Amino acid sequence: MPNGGPGHCGTCKFNSKNDGKKGYPEIEKEGDAYCVIRKFKIPKPLWTYCDNHNQDEKTKPIGPVYIIDSHPYEKKVWKPEADK
Ligand code: SF4
Repeated sequence: MPNGGPGHCGTCKFNSKNDGKKGYPEIEKEGDAYCVIRKFKIPKPLWTYCDNHNQDEKTKPIGPVYIIDSHPYEKKVWKPEADK
């Protein structure tokens, strides 16, 4: 399956579909993917990224959320960093 490289929401344990597990445990599961840290729906998990990806202890958002949505494949800010 094509994707935008490592570190995306599809392999993140904070993706609701993954039930706290790293990797692709539930990639084919029905329904929306949802970030349990950032509290939003993830329309394209394989093309969405943030610095919380599979962190062990951090449960507060770290920095912005990025997407890759076109050629050239470069990350750009989708959701700016949350207020501190
Ligand atoms: S937005 Fe960040 S923390 Fe949330 S599922 Fe995606 S990579 Fe994980």
